[in-house]
Amino acid sequence: MIDIFISKLMFFFIGMGIFLGLSACSDSGVDAPVGDVSVSTRYFIVPNVNRTRDSIDVRINKGIGARLSPGGRYSLFAKVDSLDVEPFLFVDGITCCEDGCLGIREEYGLRFDFSCEMLRPTRVALSLKNRNGDVLNNSFYHVRLDGVGVYSSELSLNVIVAGAFDSTADGESIDILARNIGTSIQDLFEVRVDTVYVSYANEHPIVGHLYPKNNPLFIQSLSDVDDLRNLWGNLKRDNAFDIVLVDGFRDNSGGQSISFFYQTDLDMDVIAVGFHDMNGALVKSQQIQHIAAHEFGHVVGLVHTTLTLDELQDWADFSLFDDGLDDSPSCQDKIDKNKLVLKEQGLMKRSYDFDGTDFYQLILDPCPDYSNIMYYTGSGRESSPMQRAIVKKNLTLIPH
Ligand SMILES: [Zn+2]
Repeated sequence: MIDIFISKLMFFFIGMGIFLGLSACSDSGVDAPVGDVSVSTRYFIVPNVNRTRDSIDVRINKGIGARLSPGGRYSLFAKVDSLDVEPFLFVDGITCCEDGCLGIREEYGLRFDFSCEMLRPTRVALSLKNRNGDVLNNSFYHVRLDGVGVYSSELSLNVIVAGAFDSTADGESIDILARNIGTSIQDLFEVRVDTVYVSYANEHPIVGHLYPKNNPLFIQSLSDVDDLRNLWGNLKRDNAFDIVLVDGFRDNSGGQSISFFYQTDLDMDVIAVGFHDMNGALVKSQQIQHIAAHEFGHVVGLVHTTLTLDELQDWADFSLFDDGLDDSPSCQDKIDKNKLVLKEQGLMKRSYDFDGTDFYQLILDPCPDYSNIMYYTGSGRESSPMQRAIVKKNLTLIPH
């Protein structure tokens, strides 16, 4: 059961329109120094996804990015090329494992259990070095991170209306839409959505004057509505995940989000979803619901079932062309096409030696992951057990 609370303070998150065949989301990356190691989102490790990437494996000697949460209990797993070496885990950017945390040898390889004291989620660099903190020449592989936190596996939503619209293409009111967004997230990921608040941006106590009522709002990126994260003055509402409905996105995306685990010092649980498509037409409520659920999936650590070319280029890792999950479908046709484009761009220098295929005839075939909620268009309505498990576990690491 999802309750709707309409606040006197109403936020307007203007939903972006979904365009047929166009990407539902535009995930932003951030480059920033961590501790004494400069890392970018492309070399970040996300907990509990159970996929391993070459770019992480080759950089664990010097440092990979991670975002740790207060109270979180973590285990870093890695295999190493020698039984003679005894690596230590170092956590830079925070006082933790200062002398290195010693690993345990087990069937999988090495396991490093650690938990760090902090007041708020903190971006760190993780590395495996020798006892003195010197870089090892050994090769590590199959590096992954597990983590469980102290926060609830339930959540509430704050649907913030920030634009000039009051109903969807199929005539649903904002209140019904908000309720349905909550139902979609709850049903798709099997997490309990406790309460759905509806807020209006023009009524925000601090930044409301920046969002005039009935003023169309088309944004470039999430940072354009970032100020709506300012506190509403209601603890429950402030602890809810913010879903901002806007009129549209200038880049024609249907929705935008940033993975919690890639963020810097923000606790940015903001998702934006568009209300109009690229032609300016209103979008139907069901599309908005699914895009909101899709973007929520990104925030808690899911990636697209088949990685897009943009993601492959951003992450510069060609060891993995899908989400790495055994139980979610992916699209071989698109993967082949992406490989060919990357090869033509001279980007595929390692991890893959692709000989090229006539993808032009393949691309017309429907993708088997089209029905999955994390298909890049956000059009799907299914999730896999592994995706749901990631969402549940990662929710416990995200303050809310
Ligand atoms: Zn997406």
